[in-house]
Amino acid sequence: MDVIDQADIQGKSMCERNTDTHPGDLISTTIEDRGIASDAVDNAVLDDLVVANHILFKHRVVDAFGHVSIRHPSNPERFLLSRNKAPAIVTAADIIEFHLDGTPVNARGRAVYLERFIHGEIYAERADVHAVIHSHASEVVPFGVSQQLLKPVWHMSGFLGLDTPVFEIRDVVGDSSDLLIRTRELGKALAGSLGRHCVVLMRGHGATIVGDALKQCVFRAIYTQLNAEIQMNAMRLGDVTYLEPGEVEATTRSVGSQIDRAWNLWKSAT
Ligand SMILES: [Zn+2]
Repeated sequence: MDVIDQADIQGKSMCERNTDTHPGDLISTTIEDRGIASDAVDNAVLDDLVVANHILFKHRVVDAFGHVSIRHPSNPERFLLSRNKAPAIVTAADIIEFHLDGTPVNARGRAVYLERFIHGEIYAERADVHAVIHSHASEVVPFGVSQQLLKPVWHMSGFLGLDTPVFEIRDVVGDSSDLLIRTRELGKALAGSLGRHCVVLMRGHGATIVGDALKQCVFRAIYTQLNAEIQMNAMRLGDVTYLEPGEVEATTRSVGSQIDRAWNLWKSAT
């Protein structure tokens, strides 16, 4: 049997296996609740989290997959994240409170995102972070699978700093994983790769973006994606000029003061 025949048979075998095992069941899960819910969250806070889900879909940061969370406003040891659902159709009733270890408080049997460990372990590691977005946006993926770093090319993305770290899951669990952040161990390792940055790319998977507030995090997620698109286009033209450290600092300060303007536009268009 030649190589092509073997590959063909293996390909068919994988397709058949996927059909048989319903892959959707592998990326959501039901966990027993633990603990008592924290103080009720203002409706305006929940509404913003719902709107963030919808904005991120509208701007193609997320599609059927990806998620956004906030740290609980009155309990820093908890975070708020939707049940397992496509972001575009998330409502306030879908928001669940979680412990930082990823255990739900009030899921009440609803399926939760498998990759919730991304959120909890970053909140545990970074006291300054109050919002986390996880995305599979195709624009950023090339920079996680090549030697080309994602770097700020325009004034709207100085928050990227001088470059963007890449999380290599093989360093933690070898080369046979499904690339998903399935455990606290992987969440911790991802948080380690993020370090003090705002964005970490995940090789062959996507990106995770953090902010000290939800609106800032949404802003960063959208402009990270746009930076990736522009950088890729510029690289086709030849050598690229990136922001210098002083420009990174100055643009981050000036553009950072305009986040509400962007949020209000995006919210009005959802
Ligand atoms: Zn993912």
